[in-house]
Amino acid sequence: QLSKRLQRVGEFVPAGAHLADIGSDHAYLPVALLLQNKLAYAVAGEVVKGPYESAENQVVKNGLQDKIIVRLANGLDAIEPTDAINVITICGMGGALIRDILEAGRNNQRIKGNERLILQPNVGEKVLREWLTKNGYTIIEEDILEENDKIYEIIVAEKTAKSVKYSNKELLFGPVLLTRKSSVFIKKWQLEQKQREYVLQQLRKSGEKQQTKIQEFEQQVTEIKEVLA
Ligand code: SAM
Repeated sequence: QLSKRLQRVGEFVPAGAHLADIGSDHAYLPVALLLQNKLAYAVAGEVVKGPYESAENQVVKNGLQDKIIVRLANGLDAIEPTDAINVITICGMGGALIRDILEAGRNNQRIKGNERLILQPNVGEKVLREWLTKNGYTIIEEDILEENDKIYEIIVAEKTAKSVKYSNKELLFGPVLLTRKSSVFIKKWQLEQKQREYVLQQLRKSGEKQQTKIQEFEQQVTEIKEVLA
């Protein structure tokens, strides 16, 4: 049984995909999608030996060795040209790490640019959206959900003929999430506002030298208030 988070991620994977799940840990996502007959083929990539072995065990336990190849590799180095990967999932890591994995994969041409990217950063969504924009991707879908008292965002991106230029506000809140303002979205940003207000209080106590930081946080609180209004 997949977590709600990974299930939502899976819903963005088109039927018949050749999937690369990077940082796959137990390979839960590719195994579940293959058992649902949603995938033609999958690669599960892991950089750490323990999770790599868990992934391998999970695949063998389900008799899916012909369909899921588990590789011990750093980031997108798990992908070989013959895999014909057209969907990449990178989930459950920080946005900056996901960005670094994508950047390395772009530099060594492990990604071609025609893959659908389905990304689930735990934090640091903005830096990830910035990378996507800079590299000509369009955010075609987003989702936000709550599970076990944690709020998760999912970003789906593809390269399109014409790249979209996002505003600062869209990069922070998510261009799609911003148009929907779901109850989970509201909850997230109410919490973020509280956190920033707390930091501001602390900064103000600490005196003059923090002026630029104070201004930055004030700006963010104003932005959040505008979005929540
Ligand atoms: N993707 C699964 C999920 O969302 O439930 C597992 C998330 S787990 C918290 C993050 C996994 O990413 C760990 O197993 C870690 O070893 C792996 N990881 C971290 N950096 C990586 C990299 N550069 N390449 C491949 N895997 C990586």
